[in-house]
Amino acid sequence: MNKEAKDIFNFKETSDACVKCGKCVPVCTIHQINPDETTSPRGFIDLLGAYQKGDLELDRNAKDIFESCFLCTNCVSVCPNLLATDMVIEEVRADIAEKYGISWFKRAFFFLLRNRTIMDIVMKLGFMFKTCALSVDAEGRGLKARFALPMIKKGRLLPSMAKTSFLNSYPEHITPKKQPKQKVAVFIGCLANYNYTTIGDSLVEILKKLEIDVFIPKKQLCCGAPAYFTGDTNTVEYLIRKNLDYFETFMDEYDAMIIPEATCSAMIKHDWEVFCKNNNHSELIPRIQKLLPKIHMATSWLHDNTNLKELLETKGKKFDDLVTYHDPCHARKVQGIYQEPRNLLAPNYPMVEMSDPNRCCGFGGVTMQSEKFYLAELAGKPKAAMIKDTKAKYVSAECSACRVQLSEAMNNSNVETIFKNPLELIAQALR
Ligand code: SF4
Ligand code: SF4
Repeated sequence: MNKEAKDIFNFKETSDACVKCGKCVPVCTIHQINPDETTSPRGFIDLLGAYQKGDLELDRNAKDIFESCFLCTNCVSVCPNLLATDMVIEEVRADIAEKYGISWFKRAFFFLLRNRTIMDIVMKLGFMFKTCALSVDAEGRGLKARFALPMIKKGRLLPSMAKTSFLNSYPEHITPKKQPKQKVAVFIGCLANYNYTTIGDSLVEILKKLEIDVFIPKKQLCCGAPAYFTGDTNTVEYLIRKNLDYFETFMDEYDAMIIPEATCSAMIKHDWEVFCKNNNHSELIPRIQKLLPKIHMATSWLHDNTNLKELLETKGKKFDDLVTYHDPCHARKVQGIYQEPRNLLAPNYPMVEMSDPNRCCGFGGVTMQSEKFYLAELAGKPKAAMIKDTKAKYVSAECSACRVQLSEAMNNSNVETIFKNPLELIAQALR
């Protein structure tokens, strides 16, 4: 049996290191929509300290409080002591999962994430029968619930489903006619694989233009982020081990593995190692560390390692459509990536900044998008309003979780702006 999080992660040490300055409170996503000390980083840390000392029982009320954190890391970026509130919350969620179990629909979802072949079949069936419960949105932004479904209210915008997944649409190797300049592997992420397949299509299109040799590893599995944020440590360990064993069979031959998704790249680059350290899998850490220098978010790698920007400036089509860029928490705050996608979009699109591009969109993970969707809705509203104020035609972010959340937030607030991954806009400019 796994050790309890409180035995492996020192909540009390984190709690003692908090100087109660309160800098984290105004920037906290959950505190902004539920202004109560218990739902603030400082409050979470206090409660976790009490939990470790045995002064707080992990009852349903505490569970509810710890599940209300969006894991946006806003607090970490302003804390003078760099206290990783998001990480201690991730760890206590393992205790919550241990004590209360994980609901059946999440267990079913994580089972599918572990079993690609079954997931392929389920998604194909979903595509065939989707119109029974869902209608295609007139603007092509996704699917709308025809009637109220369990945890899904009528009219909610959900991600579209592809007839064929990205991984099943391409050969494993795409080699340019000329001698390739570089060789990259693509890690696609589950939402881009099954729902937003035009992201992968655009990435392949860009890589072909750059005469880069592309490898699409067919046996890749989910990075583990949805399970990690829910406290399902067994699934996270399984996915890290499977992916790591597989990546090691080919990564020596490639310059990089590029990922068009902020959350998946942050999970592999940052959270794999943290998870292994906190869950007694330290034998995996040197293997992960060997891999890390080659793992990159797609726009960041393309910006720093290719002539894409120059190509866009000299040969790209110029559009009049205004674009505003939203900073995914897992890109800007976790990986420091925010200028690169803007630099690649600016040559071909007029850019406008929203009032707070760094504010969390409110996606928050599987629990937030199901049992606690009312919180995601509240967090999405101000973001939809600031996007509307820009009058942009497109809002862009290199993150499909942000796409799910912002598309629905805009649908809910009647904002007509359309969401595009920057790679889709870049590929469009190169056509
Ligand atoms: S991770 Fe975000 S929501 Fe959670 S405590 Fe920190 S700022 Fe608040
Ligand atoms: S910013 Fe850091 S030290 Fe200050 S109250 Fe928040 S968690 Fe504590």
